[in-house]
Amino acid sequence: MTVSPPESVTIGVLALQGAFIEHIHYLERVQPQGTTVKAIAVRTPEELALCDALVIPGGESTAITRVAARTHGLLPALIEFVSNPSRPVYGTCAGMILMADDVGGGKRKGDGGRWGGMRGLKVWRNLYGGQLESFECPMVIPCLKGSEPFNTIFIRAPAVHSLTGEVETEVLAALPEGCVAAPPPNDSPLGEPDVQLTGAVMLRQGRKLVTSFHPELSGDARIHEYWVEKCVLGL
Ligand code: GLN
Repeated sequence: MTVSPPESVTIGVLALQGAFIEHIHYLERVQPQGTTVKAIAVRTPEELALCDALVIPGGESTAITRVAARTHGLLPALIEFVSNPSRPVYGTCAGMILMADDVGGGKRKGDGGRWGGMRGLKVWRNLYGGQLESFECPMVIPCLKGSEPFNTIFIRAPAVHSLTGEVETEVLAALPEGCVAAPPPNDSPLGEPDVQLTGAVMLRQGRKLVTSFHPELSGDARIHEYWVEKCVLGL
């Protein structure tokens, strides 16, 4: 039996800090056949409760957590939503950090991260350099529609350090050699980096997707389209 897609889905974009408005505009451009996509800003647990799926934008992961903790009931509701494997969630840059299980590169141990979602994923903050080292890299991402390269944009971006555990993870895009940041130091609190994952910048675990880069600044809505179609609607 095939399950037909729902008539409409409500996708929340966490709107506490960072690049959230762009995600709303990009989601509005994704209109799969038979389903109306409604994108809303999320700032309260009540707004989150209206959502079938959630985008956590880029920005500053520590600031996003701090603001969420100040809004009554929001942080526990976010953690419950994001860590539930049946909930579709897409984290970009700071959002990826928040969905990781372990995070290095912060000023204090435990800075940012651990809302859940990407099980066994360890990331390293700011490994692709500071604000002034922001860069773009056109990449062919085979899971997207069309063969033209996607212009990935990296701003103080996190790198994938390693993956542990049994959860199946698809690496959907990796930077070519030369674009890749220095590997995390071996004596990092996260332990040995996984060299095979060096440069991985787009990963999926079931209904969860993370990217180190900012797709909402590229002018190209194909990553949002991929996430909505595959992870939200299961097409
Ligand atoms: N460096 C930021 C952090 O640690 C993320 C940067 C971004 O989202 N563009 O949260």
